[in-house]
Amino acid sequence: MPLFLSKAFFSFFLHPKPQFPMAYLSNLTSAPSQRARLRGVVFDMDGTLTVPVIDFAAMYGAVLGEDEYRRIKAERPSGVDILHEIEKWSPEKQRKAYDTIADYERQGLDHLQIMPGAAELCGYLDSKKLRRGLITRNVKSAVDLFHKRFGITFSPALSREFRPYKPDPAPLLHICSAWEVQPNEVIMVGDSLKDDVACGKRAGVFTCLLDEKEDMTLLIMPKRI
Ligand SMILES: [Mg+2]
Repeated sequence: MPLFLSKAFFSFFLHPKPQFPMAYLSNLTSAPSQRARLRGVVFDMDGTLTVPVIDFAAMYGAVLGEDEYRRIKAERPSGVDILHEIEKWSPEKQRKAYDTIADYERQGLDHLQIMPGAAELCGYLDSKKLRRGLITRNVKSAVDLFHKRFGITFSPALSREFRPYKPDPAPLLHICSAWEVQPNEVIMVGDSLKDDVACGKRAGVFTCLLDEKEDMTLLIMPKRI
């Protein structure tokens, strides 16, 4: 787990074994002493709203080559940003890389499952009239399939066609603007520190990390809230 999250800049709460941060959201929506009130929740898709099915290590190895993948991984232990790596390449090499990524993502879609607890959480948010948004580095067709297959829609739902993508704060700030709310009235929920939490932190929203491996949920609150 990320030790740097205990830095004094953040106050945080650790809770063993929840599937989704229902209790935390309930506190945020009802606490009268909060200067900011929760108005909406933005979710990552893969590994957050859906059960992880994409073998990212295999995909990165196929795109970068195993040796190059190992080298970049050693340089950046916090995680490889495959889309960022590809952006430096020639158009032809980029096209092949995107084709490879699309193949892995298509295979993932074949086994798409909604994360246990996600539908219930969405129902809870609806009951509180809280908005639901989505930001993913996956493609729009994958978001469309998610909406269609599970009958739960998010709006706005920004895929990687929206530039710049996570961890840039632009998509999150775009959603705040579309909702006409302040960043400190929004929470970003995701399973990636380097993409979801980083995006949320840069935008100045609450962030919530879902860590399936460690079986825990971590809520990170900007100190000023
Ligand atoms: Mg994810």
